[in-house]
Amino acid sequence: MSSWIDIPSNSDFSLENIPFGIYSKNNGLRAATRIGNTIVDLDVLHKAGLFSGISLPEEAFSQSVLNDFISLGKLVTNATRARIQELFSTENSQLQGNEQLVIDALWKLDEVQMHLPVRVGDYTDFYSSKEHATNVGTLFRDPANALFPNWSHLPVGYHGRSSSIVVSGTPVHRPKGQTKADDADVPSFGPCRLLDFELEMAFIVGKSNDLGSSVSVEKAEDHIFGMVVFNDWSARDIQKWEYVPLGPFLGKNFASSISPWIITMEALEPFRTASPTQDPKVLPYLEMKKDHNFDINLEAIIETSNGDSKTVSNSNFKYMYWSMAQQLAHHTVNGCNMQVGDMCGSGTLSGPAPDSYGSMLEISWKGTKPVSMPDGTERKFLQDGDSVIMKAFCEKDGNRIGFGEVRSKILPAI
Ligand code: MN
Repeated sequence: MSSWIDIPSNSDFSLENIPFGIYSKNNGLRAATRIGNTIVDLDVLHKAGLFSGISLPEEAFSQSVLNDFISLGKLVTNATRARIQELFSTENSQLQGNEQLVIDALWKLDEVQMHLPVRVGDYTDFYSSKEHATNVGTLFRDPANALFPNWSHLPVGYHGRSSSIVVSGTPVHRPKGQTKADDADVPSFGPCRLLDFELEMAFIVGKSNDLGSSVSVEKAEDHIFGMVVFNDWSARDIQKWEYVPLGPFLGKNFASSISPWIITMEALEPFRTASPTQDPKVLPYLEMKKDHNFDINLEAIIETSNGDSKTVSNSNFKYMYWSMAQQLAHHTVNGCNMQVGDMCGSGTLSGPAPDSYGSMLEISWKGTKPVSMPDGTERKFLQDGDSVIMKAFCEKDGNRIGFGEVRSKILPAI
């Protein structure tokens, strides 16, 4: 597909992509898509009649979040994507030939601000990379029994907090809290010392299920609108002291950062791939009859305050042992109702090799293997002034679909 819009050859935002996001310029929040480095205001196109024939309410794109648009269902959202692809393809002159409309609807990337794309009602975080779970179990418990017995039988998860999910570009303050050193008798209070990132992706629920009903593995992807890159910050020292027996709490809920563009499952379809072999065999409600995994390259970068940067991880979404379809089937098997806009984190996506580990906890092996930075300093965990940048993209046969990035700077504790 070629476009009359300039799309750099290595762009994440090819005409095949057509993600959805929320932007502002100076006139409120509105829905947009991105093609190359051009932001397209969908409200302006809609009000000019360019989506005629698609059952879109008048105000479909003039909302501050995409929840209502997503709720219209895949028939409508896919038709919208297809129409955008048509309008921006080289041979189509409907928009290209309307100079005033082009001026009104198109912005350069650096002219706009991006916002959270959805109102996240509930957020669940899984723990679905076997390599990550094995590394953490090895570091904190017993290398011989790194995985708990339940891990290979169900996608382990916990309920996180949605109010502190923030969009790329939002700075994150180092959290304060209670910690206890191994050799101390009593805990102390202060800024977290072991601040970490978690390289994850998250999916956005696109179709609700009623309380008491379940979503099968086969139907699960109909209930997933799309995906974002997800940095699930962790205060390791706070987490270590507080987590027994009820699990993650203040060490996790101070912030979770997402990339601004939701990449649809339809755009990701060409990159579908097999999951790792599941042994032992899963219970029937978790069985997969086709491939439900996706080949998505991931990168985590630390940028120091002087602007130097270093890639600390190159991983891939395909290392997920439990697929999103299995996660959603498991999440609803008890009748739990998921709602449009709910978000599920994959869990830290570590690969088999140390350069593909998805957290500083693993990369620095609990602080025993510091990472050298280009400015001569070392990192065991993150420092104030560091920025963490995570990127994700798929590439196959010259077709590239990417997520852009989630970028966040760490500010000192308040
Ligand atoms: Mn996580």
